[in-house]
Amino acid sequence: MADKTYRPATLLVHQGIDRDPATGASTVPIYQASTYHHTGGQPGEYDYARSGNPSRQQVEDAIALLEGGVRGFAYATGMAAVGSALALLKSGDHLIAPNDLYGGSWRYLSMILPDQGITTSFVDITDLQQIEDAITPATRAIFLETPSNPLFNITDIRAVAQIARDRGLLTLLDNTFMTPLLQRPLDLGIDVVIHSGTKFLGGHSDLMAGLITTADPELARRLKQFQNAFGAVLAPFDSFLLSRGIKTLKLRLETAQQSAQALAERLQAHPAVAKVWYPGLADFTARALHSSQASGAGAVLSFELKDKQAIEPLLQRVKLPIIAPSLGGVETILTHCWSMSHAAIPAETKLRLGIHETLLRISVGIEDVEDLWDDFAAALESV
Ligand SMILES: *Cc1c(COP(=O)(O)O)cnc(C)c1O
Repeated sequence: MADKTYRPATLLVHQGIDRDPATGASTVPIYQASTYHHTGGQPGEYDYARSGNPSRQQVEDAIALLEGGVRGFAYATGMAAVGSALALLKSGDHLIAPNDLYGGSWRYLSMILPDQGITTSFVDITDLQQIEDAITPATRAIFLETPSNPLFNITDIRAVAQIARDRGLLTLLDNTFMTPLLQRPLDLGIDVVIHSGTKFLGGHSDLMAGLITTADPELARRLKQFQNAFGAVLAPFDSFLLSRGIKTLKLRLETAQQSAQALAERLQAHPAVAKVWYPGLADFTARALHSSQASGAGAVLSFELKDKQAIEPLLQRVKLPIIAPSLGGVETILTHCWSMSHAAIPAETKLRLGIHETLLRISVGIEDVEDLWDDFAAALESV
């Protein structure tokens, strides 16, 4: 592994094994092999590719280095990472999670885990009292996601980690929106950090991946055991793409974040827009809390139009953004949360959470911000 003392920009490029140990090649090859020769009948470092593969090892080392973990794990999707992290729980256990959890995770916690004997209380996780009140003798873990999506509720990571430590509970945090570049939850007392590598880490909307890391050797041992037993591992080619994406994370994210700030401010001033949610805005409610635990506002913002009838014309008129349920790509992605990212959540739940039909989310890409603004401004003119 690379030296842990390097700063993030250096670690992003020299992640783990930063060249092929066998040949000196500038990138770790795509080791497209299912099994490995046992010289003289003895296994070497790698013996069967579900258990380990050098291409995958590189991104596993990268996430551990970037988040400050002892070991990293790479999975086929972000949801495979979420499911694998929750395999640390067992039948009879109770979990506390945000009521505005990422839609896919909400589906897994509310529709799959109960049949396996694991129940979840969904609470307003930003309210520490609601967490305390939800704790029962069966509670084993608290699942966090901050900022939440798409309404940017901010949870006090240190305070929840403290509650969990006092009560002997495990903490898991989905850090997809911030990436380790902007927020390092293990440093703030979280046990397990989860990522959808499909988003900013991959960064090019061309792969699906999930990552987990932890600073606790015993949790790492159990995660490794489950990864090898269950087998939802990241393939060698996708590991290569993810590694390649991670190398430019800082350049991409910093540019996208700057543009997100500009777009958020201009949208806020636009007469067709009712409200904008972005942690970088001067009047963002939890700005101080977010800044105390993250070094930037990120590249995603949400806004609500005043008029429901305006959504369709806007979606028809914008030219640059891809209109899709994802985020974190080099291209700007516009999401109609109601019908796309949060489609799995019942309408009355969405309304209760404040996710209205007029809400749109922008994952800002690295296009020229003036072209982006011209595009949105022109599309908004018609509404
Ligand atoms: C996309 C996403 C996931 C799921 O990742 P996939 O790679 O789509 O399986 C989990 N959490 C968050 C916050 C996400 O945005």
